[in-house]
Amino acid sequence: MNIDFSKSAHGLIPAIIQDSETKAVLMLGYMNEEAFAKTQATQKVTFYSRSKQRLWTKGEESGNFLNLVSIKNDCDNDSLLIQVRPVGPTCHNGTDTCWAEENQPNYGFISTLEQTIKTRRDNADAEKSYVASLFEKGINKIAQKVGEEAVEVVIEAKDDNDDLFLSESADLLFHYLILLQAKGFQMNDVIEVLKTRQK
Ligand code: AMP
Ligand code: ZN
Ligand code: ZN
Ligand code: ZN
Repeated sequence: MNIDFSKSAHGLIPAIIQDSETKAVLMLGYMNEEAFAKTQATQKVTFYSRSKQRLWTKGEESGNFLNLVSIKNDCDNDSLLIQVRPVGPTCHNGTDTCWAEENQPNYGFISTLEQTIKTRRDNADAEKSYVASLFEKGINKIAQKVGEEAVEVVIEAKDDNDDLFLSESADLLFHYLILLQAKGFQMNDVIEVLKTRQK
């Protein structure tokens, strides 16, 4: 990667840190050449801290590291978009992002929900978790639930109760995510298919 550290003041370039799963923007930091090299070597995001005036590995005290997923250069090689898997909250104030919790795109929430479904499937007690109990009943039962919820959406679409229509739509999407998971897929796989159809 060809990054132009000399172009900006003090050889520091901005690095936008984004959650690779939810796509939320987590924080902004600055990197010099050394910080960039250390980030690549350790696979943990390291900045040059202007206040500390030294290399700063995010998480060095808190343990809330940013595990590197990918680094992208911008169009003119003077800023970075870095995708990470964050360990714990990224902001030292305890929130997931430095702009509080409100900047996650809504579609990113689907990804958060998929993670929750996966966690329930793998760890939860089927007696306590509805999702775990569905996985235990198996794929036919899950597919049947999707069918039932789809019919409920159709019924509510003919009415003009917006609340009921939205509520059944949420049920359908939720059970569809469970079905995707049961088949070993995620919403992203469906989106990739849709993209190939876009002319
Ligand atoms: P950490 O790197 O998470 O161990 O935090 C060490 C110190 O870095 C904190 O006490 C803060 O001063 C600062 N810090 C941590 N996270 C952030 C952040 N997201 N933005 C700005 N400063 C931070
Ligand atoms: Zn640029
Ligand atoms: Zn912060
Ligand atoms: Zn329903």
